[in-house]
Amino acid sequence: MQILFRFLKKLLGSSIISALVFVNRPFFLVFWSMAALSILLQPLSLAWAKEEKVSETSHPSPMVHPPPKPKEELLSPLTIQDALQVIVEQAADQSNIPNKTIKRNRENTKNLNATPRAIKRRQREPAKTLSTEEMCHKIGAKLGSVDEQGCLAEQFSLTDGRSVEGLPILIKEFPPVEGRRPQARILLLGGIHGDEYSSISVVFKWLRILEKHHTGLFHWRIAPLVNPDGLLRDESQRMNANNVDLNRNFPTASTHQEWLKESREYWVEKTHRDPRRYPGPAPLSEPESRWVAEEIERFKPHAVVSIHAPFGLLDFDGPPTTPPEKLGQLYLSLLGTYPGSLGRYAGSIRKVPIITIELKYAGIMPSQEEVNSIWKDLVRWLVGHVKDRRPSDPVSMKEGEEQQPKSLLTWK
Ligand SMILES: [Zn+2]
Repeated sequence: MQILFRFLKKLLGSSIISALVFVNRPFFLVFWSMAALSILLQPLSLAWAKEEKVSETSHPSPMVHPPPKPKEELLSPLTIQDALQVIVEQAADQSNIPNKTIKRNRENTKNLNATPRAIKRRQREPAKTLSTEEMCHKIGAKLGSVDEQGCLAEQFSLTDGRSVEGLPILIKEFPPVEGRRPQARILLLGGIHGDEYSSISVVFKWLRILEKHHTGLFHWRIAPLVNPDGLLRDESQRMNANNVDLNRNFPTASTHQEWLKESREYWVEKTHRDPRRYPGPAPLSEPESRWVAEEIERFKPHAVVSIHAPFGLLDFDGPPTTPPEKLGQLYLSLLGTYPGSLGRYAGSIRKVPIITIELKYAGIMPSQEEVNSIWKDLVRWLVGHVKDRRPSDPVSMKEGEEQQPKSLLTWK
């Protein structure tokens, strides 16, 4: 009888606890905290805490997954990434971990909308860097409008920029010429999207023009192919080798968290998680976008020109100025900017005017006439609107000023 009574008491007690746990989560926490004090229950308590942490990592973008959490509860993005990296590394090392754990961890990572690609990046082996000759061979074989010899003739320089797979980002510089101070520094970028073939080929055409006609009017730094992995794979793709859209990977918010919120919201709500527009796990997570940002830092261009396709228009971002009405047959259409885009980064954050040229077709080159026409209009606009306005050198502001004293030529 006494045993039965004790059993009923226990049952009643556990029912009350269960009911309280069900309706009152804080009580649940208090209960477990107290239980954690007991040596007997300590291992269970730890196991529970671990489960909680793993399940929290399945919500890397709290704004996308509605249940709001107090701010202090949010893990920083890097912590999430690092935590996941640990999970996946563990899963990979099957000899040390029971199969059940591997399965559960894989399921956890599968639920994430973004991180598997980032993890893939970290596991990649660094590749051997190719020479400019090898790069020209590859580019010539891929692009119908660029041949290997023409590419070699440009005598590209290798930069410290490398793609995810270790391919170099080539640049060609048209530096100031003796006796003339350039009006401004211009950074020209092609092929941020690897499947926009014309955006790369057209830059090669303009390089040919500059080879013949560079007079030192501007100091040009030109990278015809910012995303070599995207172009030079069997089937070219917009994104880099980590499947990140480089043109959504720039640091366009003041904090990491804000960037995650904005870029994820945009990606989920506006693009419906279009894999071609995936912004990446963090701003400048990709070596190619990092290189562009560093190049803007180093070169300090007075204007950036970025080539894309196939929307057949021209866009402008930057400090208030008169944008070009048209370049060739491409007309101005102010589209606004996207979170993480180079347009927003250069134009709004860094206050560097940026012209985005969207050619009409990604796979068909504009006619030679149109190639020339876009170039002429571009240079004409740059001449009229983009100038190095260093206050120490007011003389250079005068229109038509051609010759400068030698002392002014030492700048870079
Ligand atoms: Zn593009």
